[in-house]
Amino acid sequence: MRNVAGSLYGLAYGDALGKPTEFQDYATIVATYGPGGPRELTGWPALVTDDTQMALAVGESLLAAPSITPEALEPVLRQAFLEWAASPDNNRAPGMTCLRACAALSDGRPWQRATEAGSKGCGANMRVTPVGLMPGLSDDQRAGAAQLQAGLTHGHPTGLAASELTAYACNWLRNGLDPDDLLAALRDRCRRQRRIYRGDWLGDLWQQPGIAEPEDFIARGWDECLAALDRVERALAAGDFTGDPCRATGEGWIAEEALATALYCYLISPDEPVAVLARGAASSGDSDSIACLAGAFAGASLGLNAWPSAWQNQIEYGDRLARLADVWD
Ligand SMILES: [Mg+2]
Repeated sequence: MRNVAGSLYGLAYGDALGKPTEFQDYATIVATYGPGGPRELTGWPALVTDDTQMALAVGESLLAAPSITPEALEPVLRQAFLEWAASPDNNRAPGMTCLRACAALSDGRPWQRATEAGSKGCGANMRVTPVGLMPGLSDDQRAGAAQLQAGLTHGHPTGLAASELTAYACNWLRNGLDPDDLLAALRDRCRRQRRIYRGDWLGDLWQQPGIAEPEDFIARGWDECLAALDRVERALAAGDFTGDPCRATGEGWIAEEALATALYCYLISPDEPVAVLARGAASSGDSDSIACLAGAFAGASLGLNAWPSAWQNQIEYGDRLARLADVWD
């Protein structure tokens, strides 16, 4: 099935389809592509954005780290993010939070002093899927690594919780979870993790003004994610899937909305992966991030053969995507 490849390529395909539509409103997108949204990769190679670039940075860090512990992973992630920030290819409308945090990370200070503590922008969420796809991790390693890679740039608890949920969605789908059961599994994780602060991974990040205990810090993140998942459930139950998906579940510029709208675009038609990508790309909000997460979910479930085979040679960074997938599939 090659589900890891399916998910990694699905992420990149969604990113490429959403790249031209990220800053377009829904009416303009429909006027250009029709109500079905963009369904063809364009350009050779078909360019992706910072979403795929940073997901590769996370994935390659997981491969390069001597072990998946906070002490071993943090310096490798930091180096990969700094290399991304300095790369001449970092010209794809990168998020300001990532750029500011990387500038601070570059002087070697503890990451908790470099992160944008108030930011829950989707920039940590869009790059986390390799944490879900790497085989053989314990629950604490997967959850901790998902939150740590988020925390390096986005210190808000909702960014941490949404990243963990995104990683687990990919992990469960890759391992055969029925998409019909995905929302319930994610909501269950919100409830079970609500007061678990992973201090080994996060250190003193929780010490923010007005926060009395680490458990209070992280609970806010899980609560906001649960509310976003509730909106997905209501939107799917309402059954009207026409028009801009962001009207149902949010524009996706923030972490829990990127997760929610990507899940919504995916769960409307989990067996039609190209339609899933096109739905995410034809959105008024953060189209590349929504489409890339939706594509990562669809590909994790359906495998590489679900995508048009010609796209594999057309997508930018195909060699790096293939290398990660070959190790983990
Ligand atoms: Mg982007």
